[in-house]
Amino acid sequence: MKNISKIVVASHNEGKVREIRDLLAPFGIETVSAGELGLAEPDETETTFAGNAELKARAAANASGLPALSDDSGLAVDALNGDPGIYAARWAEKPSCEGGGRDFDMAMWHVNDGIGENPDRRARFICALCLAYPNGEAYTYEGKVEGDIIWPPRGDKGFGYDPIFRAIGDSKTFAEIDPAEKHAKSHRADAFAKFLKDQFPDG
Ligand code: IMP
Repeated sequence: MKNISKIVVASHNEGKVREIRDLLAPFGIETVSAGELGLAEPDETETTFAGNAELKARAAANASGLPALSDDSGLAVDALNGDPGIYAARWAEKPSCEGGGRDFDMAMWHVNDGIGENPDRRARFICALCLAYPNGEAYTYEGKVEGDIIWPPRGDKGFGYDPIFRAIGDSKTFAEIDPAEKHAKSHRADAFAKFLKDQFPDG
């Protein structure tokens, strides 16, 4: 990575911004989020995690003049043919007649209801991170964590679909484990490890 002292975390999702800040903390890089800078949230018009991550990082780098690190992520459920996938946030969107905003209790219920009686409850969280510079250079890294969907939801840590996702070999959901434990095994941590290996090859 070039000598970066300040980076824009190109997300308006507080849970993601918190996790990316935790992951960047050991490197002494100052972070500011796209929300804090008042940057517009671009429409996610691409059809892949990597495509949407790149679009968000480029938009934040261009608007701020700083390097930007974006995250596009979601939950892919086998019994739902990979849904909600890149539409994970949209599954939680409430209609404007109900005041808008996001309702993850509803989104988690939709996931469980969609699986129904299907015994195949396998799922994975996928994350694409993109580091973009104002000069147009961009680097994208993808990570994942395999697991299954449990019901009812459990735990109050984490965010989004964490209360219904349990990584392979775990008894607790992502919302029941401490952030440090999630950072050791999550899709975001997997992508982040690839980012570090590429950007800091000398460790
Ligand atoms: P987007 O990448 O902004 O389109 O949103 C991705 C959505 O996927 C988030 O709003 C969450 O609902 C979900 N998601 C991504 N990563 C996680 C995670 O680590 N835990 C729980 N939900 C996640």
